[in-house]
Amino acid sequence: MNDRQTPIERLVLIGVGLIGGSLARALKSAGAVGEVVGVARSRRTGERALALGVVDRFSTSAGDAVRGASVVVIATPVATFPAILDAISGGLADDAVVTDVGSVKRYVVDAVRKHLRAHSTRFVPGHPIAGTEQSGVDASFAELYRGRHVILTPLPDTDATATQLIANMWEVAGADVLQMDVDRHDRVLAATSHLPHVIAYALVRFLAEHPERETLFELAAGGFYDFTRIASSDPVMWRDICLTNGEPIVDALRGFRAGLDAFIRAIEEHDGETLERFFSQAKRARDAGLDAKNRRQNPV
Ligand code: NAP
Repeated sequence: MNDRQTPIERLVLIGVGLIGGSLARALKSAGAVGEVVGVARSRRTGERALALGVVDRFSTSAGDAVRGASVVVIATPVATFPAILDAISGGLADDAVVTDVGSVKRYVVDAVRKHLRAHSTRFVPGHPIAGTEQSGVDASFAELYRGRHVILTPLPDTDATATQLIANMWEVAGADVLQMDVDRHDRVLAATSHLPHVIAYALVRFLAEHPERETLFELAAGGFYDFTRIASSDPVMWRDICLTNGEPIVDALRGFRAGLDAFIRAIEEHDGETLERFFSQAKRARDAGLDAKNRRQNPV
């Protein structure tokens, strides 16, 4: 927190992996947190997080760990949220603020309403737009959120001071915080993140089932591995995202399939003019998007 803000006294981090671990590291290195308590499902992960200095102590029970927490961050795969919310709902202090980092938001806010009940107005739904294809606490690093967006999707009855506290927490971690409607978040992320991940996985799977698979992977150039880097992400996380944001993802995939069909038609018809127009449109859009992003992250 900056000079005017009080550090978080006790942060309880449920799920000490890439995303949660990186947040803890960033807050610790900024001196913005008194104590970080990790909740791990295995002692092995808890001990590793302790050895790396990501947490100050750990528990394997979320229900016990949240007693006395000022802020609770849920950073596990989203399908685990209902059971975690049930486990913590009885132990939260009245003024504790709960947030999450899940990649989908409608599923999360519905689960919070159902399982966090009276405390749901002090739950601030969040999603850092940052990550790598690595997972686990060993992959975490303090700079992950620097210059990245974090989207908060508070509901009309979400406590405004709780939202402000979570926004401050992410800003201290180096992020730019913005707010968005829950369903808009899920549609936008379906197009910009969930769709490319499914495409990358589908492409690699297609080649992996090809009769010439060994030759294909051996001869694949750097571009192939650049393009499919995200297909090395955690399968459990992506299973949960597809199961909990199904409709927007299927809509995006259908739209993409229509675009692929247009390419097929143009190639079959030897329609060079259309092909060049498609490639030019895509190149212009990518170059402009990347340029704007670089200018935002490295202002002169
Ligand atoms: P991760 O590195 O695999 O970390 C997840 C952690 O959760 C692991 O330490 C895992 O324990 C733990 N865990 C799993 N089930 C648990 C349970 N029931 N109770 C307690 N701990 C449990 O995954 P991540 O990339 O940090 O992703 C975490 C969340 O962030 C997900 O909801 C994901 O949607 C979201 N997210 C991810 C990215 C990204 O690019 N990776 C970006 C934005 C948001 P073990 O160590 O025992 O496996």
